[in-house]
Amino acid sequence: MLRFTILGSGSSGNCAYLETDHVRLLVDAGFSAKQIDLRLAGIGRSLADVQAIFVTHEHSDHVCGLPVIARRHNIPIHCNRLTAEYLHPQMPSFSRWHLFESGATVELADLKVNSFSVPHDAYDPVGFMFHHALGNIGFLTDLGYATRLVIERVRQARALVLEANHDLRLLQEDTKRPWAVKQRILSRHGHLSNDAAADVAAEVVTDQMEDLYLGHLSADCNSPRRALDTVSRKLQETGRAFARLHSTAPDKPCDTLAWD
Ligand SMILES: [Zn+2]
Ligand SMILES: [Zn+2]
Repeated sequence: MLRFTILGSGSSGNCAYLETDHVRLLVDAGFSAKQIDLRLAGIGRSLADVQAIFVTHEHSDHVCGLPVIARRHNIPIHCNRLTAEYLHPQMPSFSRWHLFESGATVELADLKVNSFSVPHDAYDPVGFMFHHALGNIGFLTDLGYATRLVIERVRQARALVLEANHDLRLLQEDTKRPWAVKQRILSRHGHLSNDAAADVAAEVVTDQMEDLYLGHLSADCNSPRRALDTVSRKLQETGRAFARLHSTAPDKPCDTLAWD
């Protein structure tokens, strides 16, 4: 069996829970330990059950819960060397680092975890594809644009979390963000817009994909409706409307996906 729950996703925090017959893990820990524990309790689990945490990159919306979780629960952290070097000073006594090379595939119980590099303004950011006998789950957020490599890596997903960060017009019209911040978001090492997400979806959604989660939505420069409409329209136009589309939110978990 496999159970997958996005505990929250957005520019203010990201964390997901994945469970198989043999392993229970988190992808990122971008909420407080208390908040993650509370959301796990909602699905009958707790941080005490978690056996591994996979980290995409060191930005605080992906790792802010790690120092406390590491201190209290001592759960092994799987990440690449540059990410670990950044995190280590915040948790100097923690030693259960499981380092992988970006691009490599590591085995963990009944999962094969493939990481792949993404273009984003972090030390060594990666996406993940979790390969399981029942189907593969992909994570593709925090990237400025989709390289050929990432398209190839997530193409076999049965479920995929895909970034749809901002609506281009809302970002341009936004008055809170200085010009330099907007340039960073829009750059090739920033974040995928709804339109860019729609283009990626048109390339990676096949009839094998059942669930497509739009992740990492900006609270000010996007809305679930805009993101869903943009991606759904593109999938209709390209004859690829196979997958169920879901939006995600930072403050509320998604329904659990269950494969048996
Ligand atoms: Zn992020
Ligand atoms: Zn980031």
